[in-house]
Amino acid sequence: MERTLINDLRSQVGQVVTIKGWLQKLRDQKKMQFLVVRDHTGAVQVVFEKAANEELAAKISALTAESALKITGLLIDNPIVKMGGLELQLQSVEVENMAESPLPLDPFAETLPDMDYRLDWRYLDMRRPEVALIFRVQTTAEMAMREYWIKEGFREMHSPKLMGSPSESGAELFEVQYFDRKAFLSQSPQFYKQMAMSAGYDKVFEIGPVFRADPSFTSRHMTEFTGVDVEISWIDSHEDVMKFHEEWVAYIYQRVKEVHGEEIKAMLGVDVVVPETPFPRLTMSEAYAVLKAQDYALPPERKGDIDPGGERLLGKYVKEKYGNDFVFIIDWPIAVRPFYHMRHADNPGLTKSFDLLANGLEITTGAQREHRMEVLLKQAVEKGLTAEPIQFYLDFFKYGCPPHGGFGMGLNRFVMVLLGLNNIREATYLFRGPNRLSP
Ligand code: ATP
Repeated sequence: MERTLINDLRSQVGQVVTIKGWLQKLRDQKKMQFLVVRDHTGAVQVVFEKAANEELAAKISALTAESALKITGLLIDNPIVKMGGLELQLQSVEVENMAESPLPLDPFAETLPDMDYRLDWRYLDMRRPEVALIFRVQTTAEMAMREYWIKEGFREMHSPKLMGSPSESGAELFEVQYFDRKAFLSQSPQFYKQMAMSAGYDKVFEIGPVFRADPSFTSRHMTEFTGVDVEISWIDSHEDVMKFHEEWVAYIYQRVKEVHGEEIKAMLGVDVVVPETPFPRLTMSEAYAVLKAQDYALPPERKGDIDPGGERLLGKYVKEKYGNDFVFIIDWPIAVRPFYHMRHADNPGLTKSFDLLANGLEITTGAQREHRMEVLLKQAVEKGLTAEPIQFYLDFFKYGCPPHGGFGMGLNRFVMVLLGLNNIREATYLFRGPNRLSP
């Protein structure tokens, strides 16, 4: 018999149907048994009158919470039932997999264990409908990203994650044994998406894994995350990249709101607000002035940069002043930007680059790239790099490379901001950090 998804039951009232899902709750009363059965689309009440078949009643009594079941029964309309006004009168039950009892993590317990324990038992934690919603939203967000890219003529690329040389600097790099030599895990598809510009692809995107050997334990860093990368040719400046970025973000928000807005509000208590475009822009010097006016002192080691506390304050300032959750911080000093960021012709101490902050959290770094070989080499040398390990990259700029720019955004941070989650672990299928390599 065909399976009916719980969400689709309403159209089959009066028929015998089969559902497949997990036993969320069993109320075993004297005469009646009530089961709440859940699949990935919803939950329904199932009922059985014990006197009808004592053997079957005993089988139901022995069921444990979260067992995987296949249940067939007659579906009736019952307005007093809270779960959608439907009731399935059980005729047979097949136990596909009996859950051991007690559960190490009860997804429906009143209080949740701590985050680390939840990550140990992530597949049970993920059975909670709020967690399931996060990943449905992520799927819709990625679909919306792709819809927008395809409409704008982008091509998808898949760059290798095994590298013969580091993509930027030696910092935060994972080394792996590669037969009889060393290889590195990719920290970004940066060089390869620029190669696509030289290859004449014009506009590319990639969604893929990014590895950072960053030993930090924060609510926003992981050693492996999902990067969303974009690169666009024939731009006039980084402004063109920001224009694309903000319209694309607004479209993603709009699609997520259309598809999940109500569920997000009901289950996570968050209003998805489609941001107004253009997003406000603050130059780095304006950003410093805002922080100074609030007596916020950046730690000396962050000279030229902004630390997370400063980002939060700027987010608050922009929200109050412009009513927007998003702000581009532009024109970063060369000291805190990589060698391949283009510099302003009239102010070579500043790069044509930006960070996008969302609710005071950095989610993106972008820039116009330097596409003139000799300038690029000069900037690399200035940063202490030697030509040899990046020669393959420098060669991309020898045979007709158009002006271009792009950005890299963390998917996990984006979902975190979109859904108002307070920890990147909530927005990640399986977290990877300095102390966590399993499950
Ligand atoms: P941060 O200053 O927050 O450490 P970053 O400047 O190193 O980030 P970039 O190298 O510019 O980040 O990467 C682009 C984007 O990738 C960031 O804006 C962020 O969304 C995401 N990202 C970077 N590092 C991490 C990480 N360790 N874990 C999760 N996401 C990250």
